Amino acid sequence: MKRAPLMISTALASSLAVMATTTSAEAATRPAIAKSILNHRGISLATTHDSGVRDKANAKQNITDTAAGRKARRSDYGTAPGGSVTLNKGMLNAMLKLNTVKRFTFRVTEVAGGSHSRGSKHYAGRAFDVGTVNGSRVSTGGTGYTKAKKFMKACRSYGAVLVLGPGDAGHSTHVHCQW
Ligand SMILES: [Zn+2]
Repeated sequence: MKRAPLMISTALASSLAVMATTTSAEAATRPAIAKSILNHRGISLATTHDSGVRDKANAKQNITDTAAGRKARRSDYGTAPGGSVTLNKGMLNAMLKLNTVKRFTFRVTEVAGGSHSRGSKHYAGRAFDVGTVNGSRVSTGGTGYTKAKKFMKACRSYGAVLVLGPGDAGHSTHVHCQW
């Protein structure tokens, strides 16, 4: 009888340790993060490419495939190489937290799909593009510019190694965040 309280507290401590491990963001798997991205309405995922091309490498399909434990497909038009790639986990975590922690609502226009410059990190599953932030289209002036700059700063805070947007060549209407 005297030993019972100790046994209970040991069991409790052990189960709390398990809970702490399984609920930690760092322990979340790629599919779990991708599912969470799909479940957050503040993160809009494009189902077509800005080029007008339709394939199974659009942003929504990339995240859906990752949620199902599959690789994300790359486009095979323009300079895109085709095939598929595993999306970077740090990038996926950041995409989720930009909404759940930083409270941005945004539209992802490309992840691994689309045609980008040769050697683009999109093809390596390490970059995503955003065309709308907090209801404003990314632009070189006005609120679309101010919001884009705040989003770019937040991407960097989550470890993005290259962030491009208004003011950078070829990025007047979208933000590129790369890990
Ligand atoms: Zn990009």
